[in-house]
Amino acid sequence: MIVFVGAGPGAPDLITVRGAELLARADQVIYAGSLVNAELLRNCKAGCEIFNSAKMTLEEVLAAMQSCEAKGGLCVRLHTGDPSLYGAIREQMSALDELGIAYEICPGVSSFSAAAAALHAEYTPPAVSQSLIITRLAGRTAVPEKENIPSFAAHGASMVIFLSAGQLPELQRQLLEGGYAPETPTAIVYKASWPEEKVFRCPLSQLAATGAREGIDHFALICVGGFLGAEAERSKLYDPDFSTAFRQAGSEKKG
Ligand code: SAH
Repeated sequence: MIVFVGAGPGAPDLITVRGAELLARADQVIYAGSLVNAELLRNCKAGCEIFNSAKMTLEEVLAAMQSCEAKGGLCVRLHTGDPSLYGAIREQMSALDELGIAYEICPGVSSFSAAAAALHAEYTPPAVSQSLIITRLAGRTAVPEKENIPSFAAHGASMVIFLSAGQLPELQRQLLEGGYAPETPTAIVYKASWPEEKVFRCPLSQLAATGAREGIDHFALICVGGFLGAEAERSKLYDPDFSTAFRQAGSEKKG
């Protein structure tokens, strides 16, 4: 059995309880060494075989998984954050399907959640934005043309941009081109939840200059939108005049 496990954003105690239990039971761990906190590997049992996938090809990863499977072992494929985002798990799952090897996925806390926590922010404050766009600039991996940054920026919604910290001038240009105002609140969150975590806030027009000044060119998320501003409105959820499935309007004193 292979289990794709979300390691969480960095802090070793931000893996799920299920993920930690799987790691402790694993006979083999293949971890994404470029971003996963190696401290998590301390939970592995003695004799657990450990591979760093940053130094491996897909074929080598699959060969390791197959050898573990042949011995009847449990292989944990440890991906940073949540495996469903930019984790390249799909190609591994397709290959496992072809090989007839069973697998499961254990979700994780994505770095975009850890970034919101670092920022003390809610991505979806009423009247500001009710949508979160998660995207990236094209790098060595292409992005479908219809998903270009200016077209997303035109919505003015909350946005989190992955894998783009090395291209901040281009990112700033495209976000402005799409229609975010130059003063739109923006934040760079570097290594969210790690001891080295750093948060830099600036107006969108200063994004590239801020990144250059602080030397940020990798391992960061860029968060953009009015959700980072002061504007706020009460939600309906806790409004005394608004009924929900759990609470009748005007029933403040009842349990
Ligand atoms: N599956 C991961 C994302 C992998 S892509 C997740 O759910 O978070 C790798 C990119 O994610 C990095 O280039 C960076 O943009 C972002 N990232 C991952 N961990 C991060 C962290 N702790 N702080 C800030 N950005 C992070």
